[in-house]
Amino acid sequence: MRILLADPSRIGLKLMTKMLVDGGHEVLPFTDGAAALECLQGDDGVDVLLTSFEVPNVSGLELCWEARLIANSRHPIYVVAMSSSHDRDRLIEALDSGADDFITKPPVATELFARLRAAERMTRAQHELVRLATIDPLTALPNRRAFFDRAEEACLRSGSGSPLSVVMFDIDHFKRVNDTWGHDAGDLVLKAVAEVIRRHVGSPGRLGGEEFAVLLDGWDLLDAYHEAERLRAAIESTVIDITDTVLRVTVSVGVAEHLRGQSVDQMMKNVDVALYAAKTSGRNRVVAAQSSSAGDHASGVSDVVQTIYLAC
Ligand code: GH3
Ligand code: MG
Ligand code: MG
Repeated sequence: MRILLADPSRIGLKLMTKMLVDGGHEVLPFTDGAAALECLQGDDGVDVLLTSFEVPNVSGLELCWEARLIANSRHPIYVVAMSSSHDRDRLIEALDSGADDFITKPPVATELFARLRAAERMTRAQHELVRLATIDPLTALPNRRAFFDRAEEACLRSGSGSPLSVVMFDIDHFKRVNDTWGHDAGDLVLKAVAEVIRRHVGSPGRLGGEEFAVLLDGWDLLDAYHEAERLRAAIESTVIDITDTVLRVTVSVGVAEHLRGQSVDQMMKNVDVALYAAKTSGRNRVVAAQSSSAGDHASGVSDVVQTIYLAC
């Protein structure tokens, strides 16, 4: 496991690092709490935080809190607090600050490894829960909830200046596929479309049914429009093998750029309006939503939908 180890003593840190590395773990050692916190916040691969109470600048208890916040919102982190004191109040304080476990210092190798094996079982189970809650089982793309979580983070980042666009797709006349070739064939089509989307840039998601979206972080509307057009063309030219026959499907596509101060819901409403325009103007085409800022802030929905280029 990847273990972030925080302890104020250089010698203690060296000994524990050697013990853990010899046990097959990867260790990120810190004597300073602030540096440990910076690493914890920036590194998505940390499985375990093993921290003493007495680290300088940011205390061990604060590190426990921060790890708990990250673990709740991003990825599982198992937190083990360490102290040379056998004080019961300390143990209670550690658990209340977000620690999953507590070990006395200096740790005995066999006990520490047994606790880390428990940590591994727990984080594996949590990873599985996160996967089940965020991945669409049919296409293996992020599901609606995971997509919206990412979009929310991207909208916050985009508020600080970098552009953000979103592309939304809906398969044309998909019901006919189910009605003509059956639900299993429909599922194969959904998987094939998801595969094309996965091979292109951006953060994709299946929003539900035959509706997908891609977040293009750092892309303005015009570039996103061209990418959407490439995706539309790639899906149209994909030959999908179902039993006894091959099919092709088309998609209608909306594109919108996030405007400063917009919520995720406002941005998604805009792209939905554009997608609806692509459907009603003939399908198998890309339409970009053009929002007037004033109207957008007032109503939350773009009032102008403009076709930049119509795909034919
Ligand atoms: P439009 O061009 O207007 O989008 O028409 P459409 O037929 O694609 O849209 P409609 O909303 O009428 O039908 C969508 C169909 O998608 C209905 C639903 O049964 C089917 N569907 C939704 N989820 C799944 C799925 O997971 N698998 C399969 N096979 N079908 C699904
Ligand atoms: Mg639909
Ligand atoms: Mg459809």
